[in-house]
Amino acid sequence: MAADSRAISYSIVIPVYNEEAVLPVLLRRLDLLLARLQEGAEVIFVDDGSRDSGPIVLQALAKRDPRFRYIGLSRNFGHQIAITAGMDAAQGEAIIVMDADLQDPPEVVDELIAKWREGYDVVYARRLSRAGESRFKRATAHLFYRVLGGMSSIPIPADVGDFRLIDRKVLEALRQMPERDRFVRGMIAWLGFRQTEVAFHRLARSAGETKYPLLKMARLAMNAALGFSDTPLRLAIWCGLAVSGLALLYGGWVMVLWMSNDPHLVAGWSSTIVIMSLLCGINMLMTGIVGLYVGRIHAEVKRRPLYVVQTRLGFESGQAMPDQLPAKAAIHAVHE
Ligand code: UDP
Ligand code: MG
Repeated sequence: MAADSRAISYSIVIPVYNEEAVLPVLLRRLDLLLARLQEGAEVIFVDDGSRDSGPIVLQALAKRDPRFRYIGLSRNFGHQIAITAGMDAAQGEAIIVMDADLQDPPEVVDELIAKWREGYDVVYARRLSRAGESRFKRATAHLFYRVLGGMSSIPIPADVGDFRLIDRKVLEALRQMPERDRFVRGMIAWLGFRQTEVAFHRLARSAGETKYPLLKMARLAMNAALGFSDTPLRLAIWCGLAVSGLALLYGGWVMVLWMSNDPHLVAGWSSTIVIMSLLCGINMLMTGIVGLYVGRIHAEVKRRPLYVVQTRLGFESGQAMPDQLPAKAAIHAVHE
């Protein structure tokens, strides 16, 4: 790194969707950040199909200032795809993803980098508070992280968005995960490596309004739940078992009433209800079983790697076999 002064240490990936109102402030703050970073840094703007004047500003910037790069997607593909496109193009040793609206303050990036220097591979920024967001958004976000945490088979940190730093090796591993419905923060959690957090207070949007309307938020939540948990699939099995179990119990109770000649028993009604709910339960159970197979297919089509290697030691000596043979022979000789 030190040998080549132009080497890029940091790539800052910023997805941008109709953000012309925040660009002037953002560019000023980025300028300060880049001046603070001693080593080479690049800022990659990914324009996610904006329909305002933002792309013109950013394209001009990328042409005149070598620290800035511009990727324009052909239409609005969504935040998660946009950050994927930016990370794919990143050349840095550490890759930082942050929002354009300054809700993720560039000053926190210094802290992320400090942790990376300590040896962490993933440093995510946890939101201690969220200013300027509606009560509804805060409540649903709070609920989302708790429910997801309960459902997911791997721990996904709560109150953590996509504002984070990842090491180059985490990025290389992430590239091996080609799944189409992406929930990037979950995928990075899935990858493991040495992860840590930095806490920050999330500010209100600097300008403009949220590009995450309810529908997009729901889609993200859905991707998270379906991509990182098969609890919904198992739900049908448990419901099926419960309904059939209750139907059988009720059937037993009706039999008792019938044998004791209970005068309140309406002929035909109980048997109909018992058969109906039993069949219903069996139906759900079968759906659940089909669901388990669908779950397996889903896991296969995601084509995630089976495992991710963090460290490999001692393999280099294998390549130097001829030189080492006498030494090995000597060791054997000692042991025998
Ligand atoms: N964004 C994007 N594509 C979209 C929606 C949002 O690239 O379809 C970008 C947006 O420009 C911003 C970031 O993703 O930089 C986060 O969006 P926003 O601030 O609107 O979300 P919120 O903070 O309200 O959850
Ligand atoms: Mg925002």
